[in-house]
Amino acid sequence: MLSVKGLHAKVEQIDILKGLDIEIKPGEVHAIMGPNGSGKSTLGNVLAGRPGYEATAGSITYKGHDLLEMDTEERAREGLFLAFQYPVEIPGVSNMEFLKVSLDARRKHAGLPELSAMDFMKLARETSKRVDLPASFLKRGVNEGFSGGEKKRNELMQMMLLEPDLCILDETDSGLDIDALQLVADGVNSLRDGKRSFIVVTHYQRLLDYIVPDHVHVLAGGRIVKSGDKSLALELEAKGYAWLEEEVA
Ligand code: ADP
Ligand code: MG
Ligand code: MG
Repeated sequence: MLSVKGLHAKVEQIDILKGLDIEIKPGEVHAIMGPNGSGKSTLGNVLAGRPGYEATAGSITYKGHDLLEMDTEERAREGLFLAFQYPVEIPGVSNMEFLKVSLDARRKHAGLPELSAMDFMKLARETSKRVDLPASFLKRGVNEGFSGGEKKRNELMQMMLLEPDLCILDETDSGLDIDALQLVADGVNSLRDGKRSFIVVTHYQRLLDYIVPDHVHVLAGGRIVKSGDKSLALELEAKGYAWLEEEVA
């Protein structure tokens, strides 16, 4: 699904990623943890092709394509989805229009016909129900005036509707209460099908009780410095990151 080799990336002329490697097979869930400012969000942004995040060395192969050769829209059409730590507001564009355009582009790319307005509405209503968001949110501007929890649920709704091949969740759990956390986890788990892959960036081991990862990685200083199974998350919860930084130094 995804193969990242020796990735270096810059933001605002500063080197943030410094030789990052990660290998993700179809169906796998990889959790990425690590200290603040270590480059976790930068990795998500580089993968999604966000402007301003520049890969300067290394390679990224996504579903057999050279990801760095693809623009942001191509990546989305090809099934890469990034749920942001701070979801963006798009005032003036309704949630429904946004979802319809995104879904049409994805279906067209997959050689599927556009959904009729009625079928789309039905799907959108069903999906909003699944994430416990009132259908009235479909008519509002994308994330406009949504609370933190509503934004996260809205992203989950986008993800469920678009059925990406690779989902990247960047601290989707931060600021969520227990019920919302459970909802996000249930949503992610309902999308696990043995083919779709996930990168889950989180600070808290708690989320990983609900979304059980196949692999856990620690990103520190712009590189993956340790990888393990889900027990690594428990170890980090108990011991913090300092011991790892010492070990690496
Ligand atoms: P994490 O998500 O692991 O907390 P980030 O990837 O957000 O870390 O940030 C890594 C480093 O890159 C930080 O020092 C941060 O200040 C810097 N950085 C990220 N984005 C920008 C930006 N747009 N402009 C300047 N510096 C940035
Ligand atoms: Mg952070
Ligand atoms: Mg971050």
